[in-house]
Amino acid sequence: MKKRVAIIGSGVSGLACARELVQQGHEVTLFEKSRGPGGRMPTRWLNRDVEPPLGFDHGTQYFQASTPAFVQLVEQAQKAQAVAPWAGTVVNLGYGFSSPHNSTTTRWVGTPGMASLGRFMAHGLDIRLQCRVAGMARTDGAYQLTIHLGDGTVRVESGFDAVVCAVPAEQVVPLFDEIHKPLASLASGVQSNVTWSVMLTPREAVKVDFDGAFVVDSPLGWICRDSSKPGRAVGDRWMLQATADWSRLHQDYAADEVGKMLLDVFCNVTGQLIEEPLTLTAHRWLYSLPSNPVGMPCYFSEESMLGACGDWLNGARVEDAFLSGHTLGHQLSNAFDSTLIQ
Ligand SMILES: Cc1cc2nc3c(=O)[nH]c(=O)nc-3n(C[C@H](O)[C@H](O)[C@H](O)COP(=O)(O)OP(=O)(O)OC[C@H]3O[C@@H](n4cnc5c(N)ncnc54)[C@H](O)[C@@H]3O)c2cc1C
Repeated sequence: MKKRVAIIGSGVSGLACARELVQQGHEVTLFEKSRGPGGRMPTRWLNRDVEPPLGFDHGTQYFQASTPAFVQLVEQAQKAQAVAPWAGTVVNLGYGFSSPHNSTTTRWVGTPGMASLGRFMAHGLDIRLQCRVAGMARTDGAYQLTIHLGDGTVRVESGFDAVVCAVPAEQVVPLFDEIHKPLASLASGVQSNVTWSVMLTPREAVKVDFDGAFVVDSPLGWICRDSSKPGRAVGDRWMLQATADWSRLHQDYAADEVGKMLLDVFCNVTGQLIEEPLTLTAHRWLYSLPSNPVGMPCYFSEESMLGACGDWLNGARVEDAFLSGHTLGHQLSNAFDSTLIQ
């Protein structure tokens, strides 16, 4: 029998869970506080009126696919031209040295921007955007959610047989502290790193012979010629990502100041002089990557019909988050089936 499930969060884990449940014939509603699906796989658009549009992947840089369920999804997304392999040259880079960073696995990216994978996965699902879940209660075996809408109004949605929480660990705690302590306390043991990301458009192309670099012994951990990814607009655009340590130490600095500091570091490590860039925009991810994921695929309480999925449980990568949601969808669906048999 068709069951009603509410999913809080439409990142890759929430979307994977929803797709699995819908495939099993259940009715799923996703509530998402931001303006689009995809969570930490976004694209920051500078100009959408040109073709291809001008943007930056300021969150996830690329992802890998090795498990059958995720490989299958990525193949479908590739057919729909929502993702493509990125063949950029990647190196290890230090002050005065550079060496190849070899990898045998394909690096995938969304096209024309990283957000495309989330949009592809969201196709056909019931997603309520700009709806922040602020609380929940259970009466007579059904859940009701209190939703804060983007226009400032508050709405209550009820009649859900199960609730899935697909948000970063720090955001799980306030939601579940009252209603389901075991989940809140599991999530409270996980800490996420802070990451400063900088979107840089130099006036002239940066003259280096790589497209991405893992930077060593530097405030920067990763730099990437964002415009080298497939389906991007021409031009030279770079993403700079600071290390977790540097980002934590500078987490309360003003974005403009961080942008200038990391531009200086970028010039030093690449040996380039970049003056008056066309764009230099810093973005702070307060919860970027969990530093100590729990190491379980997902959380599920059959007694309460409550579950949680995401990278904070299964590992700090897109593929891990996907598998977490996919597994939870499967477990929840099995639990619905077993209540029917009883
Ligand atoms: C800067 C950065 C770089 C990264 N680089 C890589 C990389 O190169 N490769 C890789 O594999 N992974 C990378 N990652 C990690 C990857 O992005 C995550 O592991 C993955 O996207 C997590 O998905 P998720 O579904 O668990 O969570 P999220 O994507 O965070 O989704 C959670 C969603 O819940 C929503 N939400 C939160 N609270 C509420 C609420 N109360 N009500 C409604 N909605 C709510 C949020 O808006 C969000 O959309 C990177 C992450 C960051 C931040």
